[in-house]
Amino acid sequence: MVDASTKVFAVIGSPVEHSLSPQMHNASFSALGLNCIYVAHRVEAQELGDAIAGLKALKYGGVNVTLPHKQAVVGYLDELSGEARAIGAVNTLEFRDGRVVGHNTDGIGALNALREAGVEVDGRRVLILGSGGAARAIAITLAMRCEVAGITLLGRTREKLEALAGDVERAGARVAIRLLSEAELRGTVEEHDVVIHATPVGMHPRTEETLLRAEHLASKPVVMDIVYTPRETRLLREAKKAGCKAIDGVGMLVHQGAEAERIWLGVEPSVEAMRRAVLEALGEE
Ligand code: NAP
Repeated sequence: MVDASTKVFAVIGSPVEHSLSPQMHNASFSALGLNCIYVAHRVEAQELGDAIAGLKALKYGGVNVTLPHKQAVVGYLDELSGEARAIGAVNTLEFRDGRVVGHNTDGIGALNALREAGVEVDGRRVLILGSGGAARAIAITLAMRCEVAGITLLGRTREKLEALAGDVERAGARVAIRLLSEAELRGTVEEHDVVIHATPVGMHPRTEETLLRAEHLASKPVVMDIVYTPRETRLLREAKKAGCKAIDGVGMLVHQGAEAERIWLGVEPSVEAMRRAVLEALGEE
């Protein structure tokens, strides 16, 4: 029951009405028996500074930041975690000793989703498709937290690939870039053990699209698609057809949220309750 001592958490973004974070975190709070509630606030760019000051003044327990504010929010914070600084974007705010600290849990969310599926990346060659916000968070986290043999970034915009490659190298990994083309795909995939797809290709409603088909995956790398609408994307169907281990994007979503709860509350979240809530909201359970 909500009462005068209930701790409030929120996600801020625009739009924010589609966010699954309220269902996911409220499920975890209730599984843990915590007097906490999680809501969503639509915040526009020009309101971002006021919103953060307001959330801090109202003593929110913690806040997630979603599109389009993940980079702009950095300008309103007192402190950044090393990972958030290296990524240049924040998805989690912690209110600590009167200071607002920014974290980025997207990368660790992806890493923990791989680990949960029994996949270790140490010593392995990782191919990341895309060079946007999610690809950046994942690549930099793997560079900072793991001993990967190397990371290859495959995308369609050379300037973005080069900029990200520089940051990934500074974060501690060997890195290569490749421009997306049919000819490049064939050779590149077979040089890698783990493929992480981090573009919107295949996302609802264009669910028949995929950058890779079974014929590209004959060497049987592990394939993780971070797209989670639908849960089983065309890419994952192609990966299964090729005999690869296929990991869906729900794991990353749940684990980035779980890491935020560890930061805010110092508790071990109920990952299973979070996953059930997400699957139910997606109509998958
Ligand atoms: P973003 O910052 O807009 O980046 C999108 C990336 O995809 C860019 O590198 C873009 O290339 C590339 N791209 C877009 N359309 C493409 C196409 N047709 N062919 C090849 N490359 C294409 O987006 P994001 O935030 O990184 O998100 C990417 C996807 O991941 C979205 O579907 C999002 O829902 C999902 N996601 C999932 C989770 C999770 O927890 N599971 C978390 C974050 C994001 P250019 O730079 O050349 O345009």
